[in-house]
Amino acid sequence: MSMIRGIVLDWDGVWTDGTKSAEGQSVFSEHDTMGINLLRFAHYLHTDSWLPVAVVTGERNLTAEHLVHREHFDQFLFYARDKTKTIPFLEDRWGIKASSWGFVFDDVLDFGLAEKVGRRAMVTWPATAHTQRLAQAKGLVDDWVDPPNPVRRWCEHYLHEQGWLEQAVAERQSWSARYQAYWALRNEREPECLDLSR
Ligand SMILES: [Mg+2]
Repeated sequence: MSMIRGIVLDWDGVWTDGTKSAEGQSVFSEHDTMGINLLRFAHYLHTDSWLPVAVVTGERNLTAEHLVHREHFDQFLFYARDKTKTIPFLEDRWGIKASSWGFVFDDVLDFGLAEKVGRRAMVTWPATAHTQRLAQAKGLVDDWVDPPNPVRRWCEHYLHEQGWLEQAVAERQSWSARYQAYWALRNEREPECLDLSR
């Protein structure tokens, strides 16, 4: 598998278990945020380039928006009922073709985008077992990730596969000069938030 140069993450069912309140609130896990942080750092270490991250969601969710700002992700694209709309937009912003993106997703709304992205991971919620088989039959899945915390599991899997995990953890732990350089770059970034219903 080739290297991932950009990451798109669905929100509901990926950062969350898919449940929410009437106000649309949901929760997230620091296990998942640490996974993305380690992955971005490791990518920076080994490629000397930035790994852009976008959250793309069919709804608008305050928790997602909070997380995107706190973690200095690159884009928050909401009301994305047709997620393929993100392709020309993010390809232009990132200068990276969708064939080099990773995409973590969990449900039917994501199939269109999964058709176009280079490396696709689907979350194996027990409730979607037949939909997972359908996705597999359509050739939409490269990796399967189990819940809970599929984001972290996927990051760990990729970090391990690249042979990047040990060094990333060591430099994060020692707060190395390179980690500090990464951290400063990360914290400069202000996410772009966009309503894709229009
Ligand atoms: Mg979802």
